Amino acid sequence: MVEETKLLYEGKAKKVYETNDPNLLIIYFKDDATAFNGKKHEIIDEKGALNKAITTKVFQWLEECGIKTHFVEENSGREIVVKRLKMIPVEVVVRNIAAGSIAKRLGLKQGEKLPRPILEYYYKSDELDDPWINEDHITAFGWADEETLKKIREIAFKVNECLREKFDKAGIILVDFKLEFGFDNEGNLVLGDEFTPDGSRLWDKETGEVLDKDRFRRDLGDLIEGYEKILMKISRV
Ligand code: ADP
Ligand code: UDP
Repeated sequence: MVEETKLLYEGKAKKVYETNDPNLLIIYFKDDATAFNGKKHEIIDEKGALNKAITTKVFQWLEECGIKTHFVEENSGREIVVKRLKMIPVEVVVRNIAAGSIAKRLGLKQGEKLPRPILEYYYKSDELDDPWINEDHITAFGWADEETLKKIREIAFKVNECLREKFDKAGIILVDFKLEFGFDNEGNLVLGDEFTPDGSRLWDKETGEVLDKDRFRRDLGDLIEGYEKILMKISRV
């Protein structure tokens, strides 16, 4: 059995533990909800449990689509067991529909369909508020090389195709989402971190209702109600 040994890292939404197996970590999903880089913060009961269940289902979908992820198995409570990765400090965002920062930056209407899926990169840095960067920044500063970037792009679009279809079957529109990648101990590029409504935008296909963390960011309604709806819908697919 995999057992926690030492807390390795505590972030805004998760805790990461080392285990008795040097190649495995345990991720614990916290109840903390943060927005605007931690400026807005609340503890929301059951959020961690819902995120754990949602991320587990989505990683299982990705496996069905033949995409390598760090997910190993569910653990008890709000925990999952994952492969330990050396993380690339870049957030990879894929967008299908304009919302959030792209709408503001490029003057697009919220909800406008993009001409094709668009990929963006942000440098993972709380101090700098995760600034927007391009591929040249990533290779120049050595966060990832050209070959890795090419693979990231391919995998990110493949994830998008896979999840767009799965969420569609569940009655949910996949607006945008954030991914993080890393290398396992054999040097393979692997999808890490999480897929939850904290890091994606998910809208009800029938009603257009926002089901994701924008409910918290923009005070659109009870967060848990949205996350529960997502879990209920995706569980059927
Ligand atoms: P943040 O640092 O954004 O507040 P979280 O609270 O989500 O993040 O903490 C999770 C941390 O664990 C992130 O820094 C993420 O990059 C890292 N991480 C996710 N998956 C793995 C993995 N498989 N191996 C090592 N680190 C990981
Ligand atoms: N995102 C994230 N972590 C971040 C920034 C963004 O998970 O630090 C996700 C966010 O939830 C959304 C997508 O990436 O699904 C695009 O976010 P956007 O750039 O629109 O930023 P926002 O306006 O939400 O801050």
